[in-house]
Amino acid sequence: MSTPALKIYNTLTRTKEEFRPIDPAHVRMYVCGPTVYDYAHIGNARPLIVFDVLFRLLRHLYGAEHVAYVRNITDVDDKINARAAERGITIRELTEETNKVFQQDVKALGCLEPTMQPRATEHIAQMIAIIERLIASGHAYAADGHVLFDVPSMQNYGRLSRRSLDEMIAGARVDVAPYKRGDMDFVLWKPSKENEPGWDSPWGRGRPGWHIECSAMSWAHLGETFDIHGGGIDLVFPHHENEIAQSCCAFGRDVMANYWMHNGFLQVEGEKMSKSLGNFVTIHELLHTEKFGGLQWDGRIIRLAMLGTHYRQPIDWTVAKVLDAAQALRNLKPWVARSQLRTSDVYPPFLEALCDDLNTHGAITELFALIRQLRDDSHTLNTSWQTNSDMLTNSLGLLGIEDLVEFEKGPDKELDSSAHQIIDALLSARNAARATKNWAESDRIRDELAAMGIILKDHKDGATTWEVKR
Ligand code: AMP
Ligand code: ZN
Repeated sequence: MSTPALKIYNTLTRTKEEFRPIDPAHVRMYVCGPTVYDYAHIGNARPLIVFDVLFRLLRHLYGAEHVAYVRNITDVDDKINARAAERGITIRELTEETNKVFQQDVKALGCLEPTMQPRATEHIAQMIAIIERLIASGHAYAADGHVLFDVPSMQNYGRLSRRSLDEMIAGARVDVAPYKRGDMDFVLWKPSKENEPGWDSPWGRGRPGWHIECSAMSWAHLGETFDIHGGGIDLVFPHHENEIAQSCCAFGRDVMANYWMHNGFLQVEGEKMSKSLGNFVTIHELLHTEKFGGLQWDGRIIRLAMLGTHYRQPIDWTVAKVLDAAQALRNLKPWVARSQLRTSDVYPPFLEALCDDLNTHGAITELFALIRQLRDDSHTLNTSWQTNSDMLTNSLGLLGIEDLVEFEKGPDKELDSSAHQIIDALLSARNAARATKNWAESDRIRDELAAMGIILKDHKDGATTWEVKR
């Protein structure tokens, strides 16, 4: 069976391109991982799932032993310092605890373990080495215990985000600081106070800036130039632009990675799900609490709900979407293979869709066409039934939906009574907040409900009703 060519939309060129790895025997992908200070939300789950499917597809196309996937763990960051201080624990305690939950979350979402999960704090030496190269080649300067990247020193800075320096200065919230030569210059290293975590360096005791971490970890594990670099669309600027600046200038290369891939946002009511907006649901509560639909949801349901939309499109997160995914899994379950597979093939039209810039929506549609075929086969007692069932099972496996035979019923179309109780409790709390004109709290509760897919309607007579968003 001939294999279709993999095509990838490259943010660097803004076109869909055929994927040609530098070395097909060693395909290399780097994805920016979590900052481990708090539970990850389901917006963060989107890149985890999307790039896991790409990892699985690359393994299928090039052979599992020929693909390296690096997803880092950012375990030094000002948010980590602040949270650890707040809780009166060390940063190591905080990052260990958070990382443990993160690892359980991604496993429950059916993600394979990446080939490597390097930690920033274990790559300080490489960060210092890159910074020293940048200073030596005139791309960085030390001032006041800080080291800054000299943005105007790089000819094609802004190539990924396609912004000119003037536009960036106009659009960015630029930190003004006396030690900066140019407005856009960004921090590679900064001094640490006595009570802050720090490492000895040629510029005094300090800690790295965020961007340098990924340049160091990708270099350490994938080399100066590699194939694919991924993350959410919000990372294009400044994070990825700055990673490119650091790595290209330090190593004298034109490119850091050949293909840059970015997933769209998971949204609530048209707004990005984020910690700062308060409209978030953690992966942990979705999987392990009874808040949503009265059931601890199977990770495969969340995964299918997410993959129903192409990775570059925004997804509006609604309970209805997840209930639909549960129904889809119930429809698929009777047709997956129950015994040893006779083939490792996946359904060709499915693979073709997946190879077209990871068109998971189209690929899933093909699986339902295959089920119709299976239904016909079973009526006519056609022996192709077994092969088709095996191909369905393998195809679902490429999406990370495995062992569907074990799938329990999952939540039904309607929310059960415990979900009603939770919604009612939140509504009363909101009414209480409104009665005392605490609008901030009342809005926060509205957002919390919106994140669950519950839409409120305030009526003229003061009553509030709710409905499940469809
Ligand atoms: P952060 O913890 O904000 O650095 O995010 C970790 C990863 O999740 C990055 O790749 C982000 O781009 C991605 N991300 C954060 N919020 C969302 C969202 N609402 N939808 C999709 N991806 C997101
Ligand atoms: Zn990064």
